[in-house]
Order: sequence, then structure tokens, then C-alpha cells
Amino acid sequence: MKHLKAIFSVCIALTLLALCFVPAFAEEPCAHSWQQTEYVAPQGCRDGYVRETCALCGETAERTIAAAQDHQWEWVVDLAPTRYEVGRQHEACAECGAVRNMNTAIPSVKGGTDFGRLLLKMTDAIGGAIHDFIMKIVDFFSALAK
Ligand SMILES: [Zn+2]
Ligand SMILES: [Zn+2]
Repeated sequence: MKHLKAIFSVCIALTLLALCFVPAFAEEPCAHSWQQTEYVAPQGCRDGYVRETCALCGETAERTIAAAQDHQWEWVVDLAPTRYEVGRQHEACAECGAVRNMNTAIPSVKGGTDFGRLLLKMTDAIGGAIHDFIMKIVDFFSALAK
């Protein structure tokens, strides 16, 4: 009797499995009858494409037609470098506006290492302070001379 119950359960399980998988196999794949529904010719550096639709099932497919011309890459400065800080730039196509190489560093005007730039910053700051101090003295004596 126990045996019979086990066989019965296995049968039910198999039937359920079959019910799940049979429809997937039964459905025949579409033989596809492709028809071109859209055509965009490449222009300059812009890619074109062809879109095809299956007349039987409505599935669509798209193919890219590579542009004949290369992009006209030009560097665009996003952030100009200073004496101490590196700048940022990227390349943009003058014709279609495509971009690449985002956030490319532009060396700081003075270049060198971080430490070198820090020293330069300090020297400039001290130089600026001395300059301000001298100008204050000059102002003081000019005021006295009046
Ligand atoms: Zn089809
Ligand atoms: Zn382009």
C-alpha cells in the first residue's frame, strides 16, 4: 500500500512537470518573414540603421549601418588648469556631438608633483603677503607725505 502511494505521487509530479513544459515545446518557432520597415542612411559620422519587422509575428530587428566618416574629435576644456590644480577636458565631435574621454586631466600650468604644487602655493601665498605688507608701508608713507 505504501508503495502504491509513492508511485501515485511520482505520477502526479510527472504529469505536472509535463503540463509545464509541453506547451513550451509545442509552440513552433516563427519562420520569420522579414520586411524592411525603416531605413536611415548614415550621414557623415552618424551611423544609419535598418529596421525590419516580421510579417508573421511582428518581431522587430535593427541593424546598424556604420558611418563612412570618422568623428571630428575636438578637445573641450571643462575646467581650466591653474598653477596648482589640474584641469578637466573631454573630446566632442564637432559634427554630431558625440563625446568620449570624459574627465581627462589637463596638467596644472606648473606641472610637477603634488608636493611641488603645495610648495608653489605656499611660496605664492608668502610672496602675496610680503607684497601686501610692502604696499601697506608704501600707502602709509604716501599718506604721511601728503
Ligand atoms: Zn516572425
Ligand atoms: Zn560625429
